Formats: sequence, structure tokens, C-alpha cells
Amino acid sequence: MSINLLPLLFGLPAMLLAMYAQFRVQRAYSKYSKVRNRQNATGADVAQTLMRDHDINITVETIPGNLTDHYDPRRDVMRLSQGVARTPSVAAMGIVAHELGHAMQDKAGYPLLKLRAGIVPLVQIGSSLGYIALLGGLMLGITGLAWVGVLLFSGGALFALVTLPVELDASNRAMKMLQASRLVSGEETAQVKSVLGAAALTYVAALAQAFSQLLYFVFMALGMGRTTRRRY
Ligand SMILES: [Zn+2]
Repeated sequence: MSINLLPLLFGLPAMLLAMYAQFRVQRAYSKYSKVRNRQNATGADVAQTLMRDHDINITVETIPGNLTDHYDPRRDVMRLSQGVARTPSVAAMGIVAHELGHAMQDKAGYPLLKLRAGIVPLVQIGSSLGYIALLGGLMLGITGLAWVGVLLFSGGALFALVTLPVELDASNRAMKMLQASRLVSGEETAQVKSVLGAAALTYVAALAQAFSQLLYFVFMALGMGRTTRRRY
């Protein structure tokens, strides 16, 4: 098999899954951002209710963009996109509750959230150094250096591995909070779940992508051992 086909072979299934997950998220968001929630509560209203009911003390800010909503554990700030903050939709309700699920994790000292925050700088340095080491190893024919690159690069896969349970847990907490505050009806519970389920799939896809890339690098490093012994 030609070596040029290998990245495609390794990356294709995960890439297709990522595209499908992105499609699901966009579809769920565009559908449920048009469905008004029964409480007629905007994302900002939902945030106020949930923060009051669940004793969450954080700052809420509005930022531009679409689906840019996130919780920043370093600053105790939840940033909501304008569409989510100002729209009284089922999607906005689910997204705000999910971000507050992260705030609850933070408050509860959820260990995987701490671990994820802790490995971020490591992953950033590791992935860039990893590329340099791997490419250097491949070009100079130093197998050991290529393996160092693989090892450094594996931080990205670890990050994706830790992220998945953190995200699933935040969505679980979100559903519990929404139900405890009586913000969702039975039908809305299913709708919010489908929005959050689509979002969860993107993290599954990210994990698949990170591992297929790592696997590709492992095979490249393994292949080096063979090619260096081969005669041309
Ligand atoms: Zn999240």
C-alpha cells in the first residue's frame, strides 16, 4: 500500500464521525433555538434561576458568535453567546444549564475538571514539541526521537479522553438542575436531551480523531524501525 493513503485510512472514519456530529449539533440547535420554552425564559433568565436555586456564584457575560458559550473555571465566568442569552428557546435553556453544569463541577471540586484544566498547558506545549520531535525523528532517521514525539503528542489524546466524561457529567448535572428548578416539562426534557446529546457526540468524535491521529504516528514510528533496516 502506498504510504500516502495511510493518513486517509487512519483519519477517515473519525473525520466522517466529526462531520456527522457537527451536522447533528447544527441541526439540533437550529431546530430547538426556534422552539420557545414553556417558561418563556431567555438563556440569561435561565442562568439567573439556576444560579439562585443551586447557589452558584459566578459572573455571566455575553459574547458575540454562534455556539461560543463556555464556562471559564479560571475566572469563574460563564460566557453566553448573544443568541443563547437573549432567546427564550429550548436550546438556550439546555446550553445554559450545561455550562452551569461545569460551574457545579468546579464548585464540587470534580476531579476530572481539575485534571483537564491542569493538562491544558501540557497538551499545548506537548503537541507542538511533539510535531517537531516526530518530524525531526523521521527526517533524521532517529527512531528514538520519533517515539519522543509520539509520547509528547499523546497528551492531546489524553485531553480528549478526559474531556468526554467531563462533558457527559456537565450535561447530567444540567438535566438534574433544570428538573429540580421545574424549568422543563416532560417534552422539553427530551428536547434538551437531544441538543445536549448531539453536543456530546462531537466530543466522542474529537476523541476518535485524537486517537486515530496518535495511532497513525505510532505506525509511522514503528514503520521507521522497518525502513531503516531496508535497503534501497
Ligand atoms: Zn461543556
